[in-house]
Amino acid sequence: MTRFSLNTPALFDLSGRVALVTGAGSGIGQRIALGLAQSGADVACLDRRTDQGLADSLQMIRTAGRRAIAIHADVTDRASLEKAVVRTESDLGPLGIAVNAAGIANASPAEDMSEEQYQNLMDINMKGVFLSCQAEARAMHGHGKGSIINIASMSGVIVNRGLMQVHYNASKAGVIHMTRSMAMEWVDRGVRVNSISPGYTATPMNTRPEMVHQTKEFESQTPMQRMATVDEMVGPAIFLASDASSYCTGIDLLVDGGFCCW
Ligand code: NAP
Repeated sequence: MTRFSLNTPALFDLSGRVALVTGAGSGIGQRIALGLAQSGADVACLDRRTDQGLADSLQMIRTAGRRAIAIHADVTDRASLEKAVVRTESDLGPLGIAVNAAGIANASPAEDMSEEQYQNLMDINMKGVFLSCQAEARAMHGHGKGSIINIASMSGVIVNRGLMQVHYNASKAGVIHMTRSMAMEWVDRGVRVNSISPGYTATPMNTRPEMVHQTKEFESQTPMQRMATVDEMVGPAIFLASDASSYCTGIDLLVDGGFCCW
């Protein structure tokens, strides 16, 4: 009989790992930050928000028995990201996991969209992910290992019916392909890079004005007939962060209730 030495539950164990999560003061990033902590990681929570969000994240992670630090920073600022990685490592230890969830969404018809609206979203959703990955990977290269997870969107694969957000959709398609490209650049240095593409998920992002009348419609367009909860993003993130996905790099994991099948 073949003897397997692998301990399956341990595949998902993040004990002793250190994670940095951007956008950790709200929504998907906040829930994933807590989920990583509940699987054993210590977590640096980065967000530009100065409200209660980051404080709540820290409190929940500490209640889960893990260490946490808050970093107020903007992902469009390269120097701040570099400092964030240095602080994460000096306060918590070598960076092993990064989840880049910071992002924004808004809408306008393409023909009317100002250059400023286009550029601001691209700066956060695309350049912000690039700069985050760059700062995180530099540290991980030094350790010879690491897992980076970028939060893209199914909008990088489909066009959301009824939502005029050409810049958002393009930014998410960019994140998916940027993820693959970085995965290939870093494949021989032990750093895996993957993305998660959520479908419609109940977060503050989906309370924006153009969504109010759309939510019911989006639920009915989704094969599972509902939006995702932020809880449902945790399992995919733990999978990609952990040794359970040791042979995965450059993938985009769709978590969309079946949306992209139809
Ligand atoms: P959210 O609740 O608004 O959380 C995003 C967080 O990122 C907010 O705290 C936000 O702060 C922060 N952030 C924005 N720009 C930043 C910057 N320049 N620097 C640092 N932090 C910044 O939204 P969410 O729904 O959780 O979205 C998280 C990610 O999932 C985004 O990338 C989004 O595109 C993606 N996603 C969401 C859905 C969905 O249906 N909710 C679906 C697919 C993909 P502010 O509040 O100040 O902007």
